[in-house]
Amino acid sequence: PFGLSNRVKEIAPSPTLAIDTKTKQMIAEGVDVINLSVGEPDFNTPKPACDAAVEAIYCGFTKYTAVPGIVELRKAIAEKLERENGVTYSPDEIIVSSGGKHSLYNIFVAIINPGDEVIVPAPYWVSYPEMIRLVGGVPVIVETDESTGFKVTPEMLSAAITEKTKALVLNTPSNPTGAVYSPDEIRALAKVIEQHEFYVISDEIYEKLLYDAEHLSSAAVSEGMKKRTLLVNGFSKAFSMTGWRMGYVAGDRAIIKAMTSFQSQTTSNPVSISQKAAIAALNSFDPEMVTEFRRRRDFVLRRLEEMPLIRCIEPQGAFYAFPNIADILGKSYNGQTIDSSDTLAELLLTESKIALVPGSGFGAPNNIRISYATSMANLEKAMDRLESFLKNVR
Ligand code: PLP
Repeated sequence: PFGLSNRVKEIAPSPTLAIDTKTKQMIAEGVDVINLSVGEPDFNTPKPACDAAVEAIYCGFTKYTAVPGIVELRKAIAEKLERENGVTYSPDEIIVSSGGKHSLYNIFVAIINPGDEVIVPAPYWVSYPEMIRLVGGVPVIVETDESTGFKVTPEMLSAAITEKTKALVLNTPSNPTGAVYSPDEIRALAKVIEQHEFYVISDEIYEKLLYDAEHLSSAAVSEGMKKRTLLVNGFSKAFSMTGWRMGYVAGDRAIIKAMTSFQSQTTSNPVSISQKAAIAALNSFDPEMVTEFRRRRDFVLRRLEEMPLIRCIEPQGAFYAFPNIADILGKSYNGQTIDSSDTLAELLLTESKIALVPGSGFGAPNNIRISYATSMANLEKAMDRLESFLKNVR
């Protein structure tokens, strides 16, 4: 009979992409909406990457490639991991896929059996729990809040581990909170992890966007941690290459081989042209991006501090602020009760023309996510609008 699979019926569509779609539609209709919902840098892809792609097209590098990506790219990634993260991998311990999202999904397919538990600290990036459920795994959510800087402590991690634990997802710097685990915090978690046999899925896609913080990959802590870690990274955020769809995983050879088999039967190689662009991008990071994001972060934080009913801890990485809106819940705006972060986001969009993402999709119903990957002029306008909205909340 006709009908969808049970598996697909249970997936919640990505709330961030949904808001983005609605916002873009309003903008197309001529509404002056300021979009603070996007998860992509508003910078151009580095020119060397674009040049390499154009050359690839005209030189006919437009055919199937090796499934896990060309050796030249995997070698370049291995060199990057050695140089910047202090971990040594050979090209056959690396697989390139069509974006970090694809890399993560391939990992879950490769390691999760039905009923396996995956520890996911909340607030989490929206796709982790959905992907885990898609492959039959059980996301075990560990709640964190501002009191620990939105980070799991070794005690919280210990309490969540069971004999069914197959993996922990660690995302630092974090989307949506901007939290960054310090090297000491990573080492403290590693002490707990090393007493067990499960994987660490280390999503390091925002690793270069740091403000007064240091990034340590869990793979770099020790040989034991390297064995357990599946290091995920990509080109979308650091190189403004969201549309090129380039992500990768470095880790245990047997897992990379399994992921390669799965990829060979589903999507084949990642885009050949993007692979050439990625090689060039690896040497073209623009630190100016960090300077600019820091300026915007400081501005947004300062403005939020001056507003009533809202409080925000300082994000140390990525390009998001994640203010707490608990004091707004139960109050009303223009006679309409604000009963959830979803209602608040809806009202901000329709009444104040600011698009941002409610915390509910990130497992954080008391927060909202503001992306500051937009111009200062837009941020100024948006903060003015938010402030006048909040002044009218009763
Ligand atoms: N991981 C995190 C934490 C993200 O925020 C994103 C994108 O928003 C991704 C992974 C995946 O990005 P992409 O698939 O564009 O590489």
